[in-house]
Amino acid sequence: MERQFGKLRLELMQGDITRQSDLDAVVNAANAQLTTGGGVAGAIHRAAGPELDQACRPLAPIEPGQAVSTDAFGLPNQRLIHCLGPVYGVDEPSDQLLAACYRNALKEAGQHQLGSVGFPAISTGAFGYPVREAAGIALQTVVSEGSVIEGLTLIRFVLFSNEDLAVHEEILVRMA
Ligand code: ADP
Repeated sequence: MERQFGKLRLELMQGDITRQSDLDAVVNAANAQLTTGGGVAGAIHRAAGPELDQACRPLAPIEPGQAVSTDAFGLPNQRLIHCLGPVYGVDEPSDQLLAACYRNALKEAGQHQLGSVGFPAISTGAFGYPVREAAGIALQTVVSEGSVIEGLTLIRFVLFSNEDLAVHEEILVRMA
């Protein structure tokens, strides 16, 4: 599914964030130490290769809501943006910290003149954020913040399951 908001196209698809070769950047749902692990971070570190770990080390630790970026190494993108989402019910206020992740990731994209960015559903795996709540925050934030980033024309949510895709689609169709 896709919708256009001014110059910005917002796409939703089911897929793997490590295989988005047509995007300038993808976002990692990182941990504070920017190390590999399960979920998105594990898949990204495996695909990027060991140089990513070296590049991340001097940037860590990061705080919930913060975003930093590195080269994408073995990934088929120019750049990799690492965000630390809030652990649901622990890092408070979770909604504001989750919105900050998306906002700061987009700012990072703007600073590096990246025209297209792919996001996973940050915090909805190991960090326990309910998908429907997280999707509402994520979609609202990227539409309002993405349209003010110079040169950004495409934001794609790459959802791992069809269920997560369906939830995001339900919210996006209803968005003003
Ligand atoms: P967090 O720790 O921020 O919750 P996770 O990596 O545990 O991050 O999960 C975030 C979301 O990303 C979950 O919905 C998970 O199913 C999904 N996910 C896991 N692997 C991938 C992948 N390769 N591409 C896209 N999404 C993925």
